[in-house]
Amino acid sequence: MVARITTFAFEGIAANPVDVQVHMAGGNQPAFMIVGLPDKAVAESRERVRAAFSAIGLALPPKRITVNLAPADLPKEGSHYDVPIALGLLAIMGILSPDSLDGHAAIGELSLEGRLEATVGVLPAAMQALEMDLRLICPQVCGAEAAWAGDGNLAAPNLISLINHFCGRAPLSCPPPGELAPRPHAPDLKDVKGQDGAKRILEIAAAGGHNLLFCGPPGSGKSMLAKRLPGLLPDLSARELLEASQIQSVAGLLERGKLSRARPFRAPHHSASMAALVGGGMRARPGEISLAHHGVLFLDELPEFSGQVLDSLRQPLEDGEVTISRANRHVKYPARFQLIAAMNPCRCGGGDGSCRKGPRCAEQYQSRLSGPFLDRIDLFYDTPAVTAIDLTLPPAAEGSAEVATRVKTAREQQAHRYASRSPGGPRPLNVDATGDDLSKFAAPDEAGQRLLTDAASTFSLSARAYHRVLKVARTIADLEGSDAVRRIHVAEALSYRRRAPQIGASARPGALAQ
Ligand SMILES: [Zn+2]
Repeated sequence: MVARITTFAFEGIAANPVDVQVHMAGGNQPAFMIVGLPDKAVAESRERVRAAFSAIGLALPPKRITVNLAPADLPKEGSHYDVPIALGLLAIMGILSPDSLDGHAAIGELSLEGRLEATVGVLPAAMQALEMDLRLICPQVCGAEAAWAGDGNLAAPNLISLINHFCGRAPLSCPPPGELAPRPHAPDLKDVKGQDGAKRILEIAAAGGHNLLFCGPPGSGKSMLAKRLPGLLPDLSARELLEASQIQSVAGLLERGKLSRARPFRAPHHSASMAALVGGGMRARPGEISLAHHGVLFLDELPEFSGQVLDSLRQPLEDGEVTISRANRHVKYPARFQLIAAMNPCRCGGGDGSCRKGPRCAEQYQSRLSGPFLDRIDLFYDTPAVTAIDLTLPPAAEGSAEVATRVKTAREQQAHRYASRSPGGPRPLNVDATGDDLSKFAAPDEAGQRLLTDAASTFSLSARAYHRVLKVARTIADLEGSDAVRRIHVAEALSYRRRAPQIGASARPGALAQ
């Protein structure tokens, strides 16, 4: 006889169904085995289940017990197999009726006292269970998270409550979805005095989802400006919210099922390891770039990041997802983020000719950024040093709220334009426009085209850089409410490339090689 229940193996944010089959046979050598490619945590499940059973006064029968996790070729990792294994055992031992587990899936770790402990990945598991028309049994503490996927899940505090539920003594239910976390207070653009050019470029970046690099001496307000980007962005859509939250769920970052509609803003330090940034490590956990999915990744002191790390961002910046290679397979995570970066002009922080080592210093420092990496940045801006006069300026007339309204309108135009895009694919934003989109929607008028062609040959723009200029021009036209991309839009877009002549000079050969 075999008892069975469904659980899930996580691969990225995909919850793959796993059939937990528990078999018991007579014989004079009692054993308890778990087969089907379990990792160490799964194998240790035996000890936790045994202890949890004895805590509630149950002993495993002295027989040969085999737990098979099918399909056998799918690696099983983590401690969340405890609960499905325990339920299968209860059924095979006759404590639950054999067919009571039908239509259920389960996930959760067991404590030695028989409590159901929190586990990662409840949200994607609940969504997959719903798709398979199964009720998900999860730990009580994760119930509010599971409820986001839909109704009908079961949240249990301990093993006893599960037995009581299936015996019809005390039916379990599921708590309502966790509340939406209030939008965190985002710093306001109003606090930034002067810097009109930087604010304009921030607005363009927010409107079209463009990647942006600020370059300027220390104290010129680069990070202050960057941190104000989230305040200009619209809330996550319902679909984006679920996608971003699934990643947080797998990373174990969803507290009490609280989801947040605010776009993620991640600012890893430049000493962050490759695994921390792009994902990987023991269980191929999502990295910062995935936690920034549908939000903003801020890299301060950009050239201080290792070249290897920066180059690993190139693919995600293009495809919106990252592939983490493991010994025997590849794990994919979504990583559709907007990059905003900041840097000093040279290592010693000088700029405006204040560095005593001369221009070589800046050249060396900036050459740490490869041409192909810089080619993925749409907007470059040199932030000037803040002068004493700037500090005496009155507070800015316009704050984040006003800018956010214009950004919203511009984004609505883009959503309309790219409405045919499939969900989960490219964002309906100009930054993700394809070559076809650009020739259809962003072909400049005659004067604009002439200007662009001239600039492309004068500055030897790579094909990618050429397209990036067009995307930015399209966004500038959108902010103006203009259907046509005109010369003035192209000119402004070009000005944001040319503002980085030193970067261009030292890195351009690589860009052309791309
Ligand atoms: Zn220097």
